[in-house]
Amino acid sequence: MTAPDHALSTVRARIEAACREAGRDPDSVRLLAVSKTRGADEIRALHALGQSAFGENYAPELVDKYDTLEAAPAPLGLEWHFIGALQGNKTRAVAERAAWVHTVDRERIARRLSDQRPEGMPPLQVCLQVNISEEPQKAGVAPGEAAALAAAVQGLPGLVLRGLMAIPAAADDIPLQREPFARLRALRDTLNAEGLSMDTLSMGMSDDLEAAILEGATLVRVGTALFGPRQPKSKESA
Ligand SMILES: *Cc1c(COP(=O)(O)O)cnc(C)c1O
Repeated sequence: MTAPDHALSTVRARIEAACREAGRDPDSVRLLAVSKTRGADEIRALHALGQSAFGENYAPELVDKYDTLEAAPAPLGLEWHFIGALQGNKTRAVAERAAWVHTVDRERIARRLSDQRPEGMPPLQVCLQVNISEEPQKAGVAPGEAAALAAAVQGLPGLVLRGLMAIPAAADDIPLQREPFARLRALRDTLNAEGLSMDTLSMGMSDDLEAAILEGATLVRVGTALFGPRQPKSKESA
C-alpha cells in the first residue's frame, strides 16, 4: 500500500501543477478523497493528514462508515459526499448523512432527497450528473434536459443546486480527455447565462484530473491515486 502521506502530497502536487499550467489559484480546486471500498481506519489516517472531504458511491457503505466515524462522543466531523448511483429506496440514508450528492439525474430522486433531508441540517448540496458524451448505457441527465432538471432542483427547499458532474469515457491523452470536460463547462456556463448560479464542476479522477483542471474543474474526485488500487469486491471491508 502507498503511504497515505506520500500519496496525499503527490495528489496535491498534481493539482497545484495543473492549476499553475491553467493560470488558476490552487485554492479554487477542492480534493474529494473517494474512499469507496476503504476501511474507516484508512479514512482516519487521511483525515489526520488534513483531508476532510470524503466520497462514497454505495449507500450501505456510506451508512457504515458515517455511523462509525461520526458517532458520539468523538465524531470526526468529515464532509461526506455521495457520488454513486442513487435508487429510490436509498435516498433517505443519504439525505440523513451526506453534505453533498453529485449524482442527481432525475427529478423523482431530487424530490425524495429534498423531502427526506432532516429539518435541523443545512440543505443538501447537489450536482446534476450529466451524461456528457451521451453514451447509451451511462447514468446522467442528457445535456439537453439539464436545464429543466436544474430548474426543478432549484425549486426544492431541502436542496441547493451547486453544479454539474460527469464521468466521461476513459481516454489516454490529455487533449482527448479535455473534450468532454470542456463540454461540461460550456453547459454550466450556458445554464448560468440562463439565470442559474452554479459554481461547481465536479470532474476529474485519478487518471484525468489534470485535463479536468485545465477545463475548469472546481472539485476532483480521487480514489486510486490516494489509496492505491481497489481490492476485489470479495475483499472489501467497511
Ligand atoms: C471511484 C470513483 C472515482 C475515483 O476514481 P479513481 O480512478 O479511483 O480516482 C471518482 N468518481 C466516481 C463517481 C467514482 O465512482
